[in-house]
Amino acid sequence: MSVLIKGGRVITAADDYVGDVFVDGERISLIGESLDLQADRVIDAAGKYVLPGCVDPHTHLDMPFGGTVTIDDVQAGQTSAAFGGTTCHVDFIIQPHGSSFADALDEWKAKADGKQVIDMGYHMAVTDLKDGGSLEELASLPEQGITSYKLFMAYKGALMVDDETLFRTMQVAAQTGALVMVHAENGDAIDVLVKEALAAGHTDPHYHALTRPPETEGEATNRAIQLARVAGSPLYVVHVSCRESVEPIARAREAGWNIHGETCTQYFFIDYSYLERPNFEGAKWVYTPPPRPKENQDVLWNAVRTDTLSVISTDHCAFLWDGQKTLGKDDFSKIPNGGPGLENRLQMIHEFGVRAGRISLNRMVELLCTNPAKLFGLYPRKGTVAVGSDADLVIFDPAKELTISAQTHHSKSDYNLFEGTRVTGTPEIVLLRGQVLVENGELQVEPGFGQFVRRAKFGEELKPAATAAA
Ligand SMILES: [Zn+2]
Repeated sequence: MSVLIKGGRVITAADDYVGDVFVDGERISLIGESLDLQADRVIDAAGKYVLPGCVDPHTHLDMPFGGTVTIDDVQAGQTSAAFGGTTCHVDFIIQPHGSSFADALDEWKAKADGKQVIDMGYHMAVTDLKDGGSLEELASLPEQGITSYKLFMAYKGALMVDDETLFRTMQVAAQTGALVMVHAENGDAIDVLVKEALAAGHTDPHYHALTRPPETEGEATNRAIQLARVAGSPLYVVHVSCRESVEPIARAREAGWNIHGETCTQYFFIDYSYLERPNFEGAKWVYTPPPRPKENQDVLWNAVRTDTLSVISTDHCAFLWDGQKTLGKDDFSKIPNGGPGLENRLQMIHEFGVRAGRISLNRMVELLCTNPAKLFGLYPRKGTVAVGSDADLVIFDPAKELTISAQTHHSKSDYNLFEGTRVTGTPEIVLLRGQVLVENGELQVEPGFGQFVRRAKFGEELKPAATAAA
C-alpha cells in the first residue's frame, strides 16, 4: 500500500513548507516539492497542514482508581485519541501492591490485547519495592522497552511512595538509562489538610483544591529535583499546574540540570472557579493537581513558550460524572480524580496557542509530537515528518470550525472538560503507519491494529530498523 499526500503544508518542529509526502508501506519514503509518482491512494492536501501524529505521554486507560475503574478502556481511549490526531501514547502500568513488575506488565498487556487502535508504550508506576517488585526486576524493564519509571509523591495510603522508594528508583534509573517521572505533591501535608477539612464539615468539590495548595506541589517538585541530582538520574515532572512548581524547574534548567516538565491542556483553560459550580457540577474538574487560580495560566503559557516546560499532555483519566464522580457527593475526597482530554489537545492548543498568537505552529508540533517522542524514546520513528519515520500523519484542516462537546466526542465519559468551546481547525484524515486511521468522521481500522512499541532508553533514538524486532 502506498499513499501520496499532495501539496500540503508540512509542519515539523523545525520546518514549514509546501510539499508532497510519499508513503510506502508503513513509513515515509520520500518528500519533495512535486513528486510525480504512482500511488495506490492520492490525498489532495492543498490548503491543509500535514503534521506528525501527536504523541501523548500521559494517559490512564482501564485503570482502577478511587474505588472504581476509569470509564475509557484501551479501545475507547485510543479511539478518542485517534480522532484528535494522537497516533501514539504512553500509558501507566500501576504496580499493584505486592505484585512483581512482570505480573503488572502481563496484567496491563492483557487489558490492551486485541483492543489497540493506535500505537502505545508503557511507563511503570512503582508503588511497592518491599513486598512487590525488586530493584533488580525494576532494572530489567528498560531492556523490555519500558524505559520510564513513575512515582506518586501524593495519594497517601494508595499510590504514594516514601522518599526512600523514590530515591532508590532514581538510583536504578541512573544505572539503566530510564527516565524518572514524578507526580509532585506533598502527600503527607495534603492528607492532614484533607482530614482537617472533613472534620470541619467541608465536603464540597472545591475543597479538593483548597486542601492541595500550590505550595505542596512546589515543595515536592523541588524535592524531586534535588533528589534526582543526588542520584544522578534524569527527571520529568508530570502535570505542572502552577507558578510554585514552574519556578524550581526553570531554575534547574537554567543551571543545565537534566530536568524536564510537562503541563496538560486543561491547566491553560480551567481555573479554580470551575470547582465552585453548584449542584456538584464542580466535580467534573476534580483532577490532580487541581485547577489553580487563573493567574497561573499566563505562567504556564510563558513556560511552554520558553521551554521551561517541554511537553503538553492530557493526563486523560476519564470517569462518568453521573455514577462515578458521584461516589464523592458527600465527601470531596472520595470523588475519583481525573478527567477526559485525550481527544481535544490538538484542537485546543491550535486554537488558543497558535491562533491566539501565543506559540508558533512549529512550537505546537514540538510540544505535542516531537518533544514527547524524544523524551520517551520514540523519536525519530514517531514525532516528526521525515524520510524513514513511521507514516503517522495528521491532515489538519485549519479552516474547519467545530464546537467541542460530549455529544460528539469518542470518550465514554458523559461530559467534556471543554464543553461548548468553539475552535477553528481539526484533523481531517489521520494515518498510522501508512494506514488511514480516521477519515470522514469514521474510524477506518479494526481494533488490534495498534501495536506495542518498545521504546529506546532516555536520550537514545528509536531507529526505524528496530521495528522489525518489536
Ligand atoms: Zn496522571
